[in-house]
Amino acid sequence: MKIFEEIESEVQSYARSFPRVFHKAQGSYLYDEEGTQYLDFLAGAGTLNYGHNNPILKQRLVDYIVEDGITHGLDLHTKAKGEFLETFKECILDPRQLEYRMQFTGPTGTNAIEAAMKLARNVTGRENIITFTNGFHGCSLGALAATGNAHHRGVAGTSLGGVTRVPFDGYLGDDIETTEYLDKVLTDTSSGVDLPAAVLVETVQGEGGINAASLKWLKNLEAVCKKHQVLLIVDDIQAGCGRTGTFFSFEPAGIKPDIVTLSKSISGYGLPFAIVLFKPELDQWKPGEHNGTFRGNNLAFVTAKAALETYWRDDAFAEQVRLKGQYIEDRLNAVVEELGEGTFSVRGRGMMRGINCVSGEFASQVTRACFKRHLMIETSGAEDQVVKFLCPLTITQEELKQGLDIVEQAIREVCAKTDDMPEERHYFDENYDIAV
Ligand SMILES: *Cc1c(COP(=O)(O)O)cnc(C)c1O
Repeated sequence: MKIFEEIESEVQSYARSFPRVFHKAQGSYLYDEEGTQYLDFLAGAGTLNYGHNNPILKQRLVDYIVEDGITHGLDLHTKAKGEFLETFKECILDPRQLEYRMQFTGPTGTNAIEAAMKLARNVTGRENIITFTNGFHGCSLGALAATGNAHHRGVAGTSLGGVTRVPFDGYLGDDIETTEYLDKVLTDTSSGVDLPAAVLVETVQGEGGINAASLKWLKNLEAVCKKHQVLLIVDDIQAGCGRTGTFFSFEPAGIKPDIVTLSKSISGYGLPFAIVLFKPELDQWKPGEHNGTFRGNNLAFVTAKAALETYWRDDAFAEQVRLKGQYIEDRLNAVVEELGEGTFSVRGRGMMRGINCVSGEFASQVTRACFKRHLMIETSGAEDQVVKFLCPLTITQEELKQGLDIVEQAIREVCAKTDDMPEERHYFDENYDIAV
């Protein structure tokens, strides 16, 4: 359609990878104007964990709108907000013995990061924040300073300061424990690294190439923070809300961050919504100090509450995510073993997975070959060398198998491997006890 070229800015990104005009969506599928169906393994870059237009969430939203529920109320107490807070406490915080205050920020992830960094700096009276190689935290200036990606940083147009970058887990090879380096520079008063207010980390780096920190590394990181009285901020904007197989991505590491940011899938429905959680003693904001017109999206409160009640009252849904994650890992490992041992590798945790194709050109040929087969899937990483799997967590067994078959066929095509997939790859046996 000509209008997009005519007046939409060149800043478009995802639209370039999938040049169609999309019109409808349901569950794991998007549909273009002609009605062609596409299986969606991008899912709003992790924003649609419960699928497109999830029917349960949609019904609650429609009922709320029809009854003239409040859509915008600044930060007024509303019934929808109160019910969301109660449900979040009951379904998420209490069962995990977490005690956090909740701040509603502007509705995007980068707004939550700005608030988290500002809070940490003000509470500690220190400026520096430790961030990690290949980290991604958003594109507004504070969050951008914490982001590694040169393409994004390059257009800041002003200096990006107040952070010190240290190597993420695995950055210097499997044998080097990079938290020891952090401990060392924070201990040495002449290291040149100022004592920071906080350490800001993703447990699984999404945009940075699906790099999963080991649980041990996360534990060590928390210990280093405690030792030096530095706050630990976990950016769970992409890895949270169940993506890795638990509601918060840090749960299996047994750590309790001081501050947590959530956005992307927290509304459950793709509605803009972001929150910051912090330990009660950190709640040192004065009234209105960090203001904003769109703090707390009431429509998102309604769908977020519905999502929590539907999927997070017990562990059954999370267990399904772990099983599907295992299936994805096994399928990708089989591909690597056959086609790419020594070159390709499988990355990630739970249903946040990637296959590292080493070359960005190879990975983009794979995603293009997938799109020809009506599968939408994107790349990430410094060279866009990682094909990343972010399909809805609610995806059915059949859809998941279909998507992985397409990716494998695409990889075989790009490898110029024309013979068919091995027969055993078509399994989806009882090892994966996935409820359809
Ligand atoms: C997407 C993302 C952000 C930024 O969120 P926006 O809504 O795009 O501003 C921050 N951190 C992580 C880990 C993300 O994946």
